[in-house]
Amino acid sequence: MDCIFCKIVSGEIPSVKVYEDDRVLAFMDINPINEGHLLIIPKAHAATIHEIAEGDFLAVMSATRKLSAAVKKTLNPDGINLLQLNGKAANQVVPHLHVHIVPRWFGDGLTISQWEMVAGNMEKIKAVAEKIQSEIVN
Ligand code: 5GP
Ligand code: ZN
Repeated sequence: MDCIFCKIVSGEIPSVKVYEDDRVLAFMDINPINEGHLLIIPKAHAATIHEIAEGDFLAVMSATRKLSAAVKKTLNPDGINLLQLNGKAANQVVPHLHVHIVPRWFGDGLTISQWEMVAGNMEKIKAVAEKIQSEIVN
């Protein structure tokens, strides 16, 4: 398959690896938006949250927790953003699911995760909540 991250898993494209287990690989982002920016991916190809097997997603999240602790110990950031984008409309560029760990420091100037708080219409909020609730599959 013509997928950059699958090629990283197979070793066809080199990467700076930081963690690996049966299901998961973590490596440094080559365009870091802050020092320590890294990516955690499932080894099995899945484009987005809608395709990934639950076990692979849980493994990615478990590794994300472990790596966040290691990043905190190493770089002592003031905070960490976890980002996981699904689909072009969400600005996903590489269609192989990945979680970004982005260490954050006060005054680092990054604008990710900043949005204006505008109160919503409670009727609309409740209506969409009911629709979502009715579609939850256990
Ligand atoms: P997203 O799909 O969430 O927008 O981000 C894709 C991320 O993958 C970007 O941060 C980009 O820098 C990173 N990326 C793209 N190609 C490569 C690559 O070949 N190697 C590595 N290490 N990172 C990559
Ligand atoms: Zn892939």
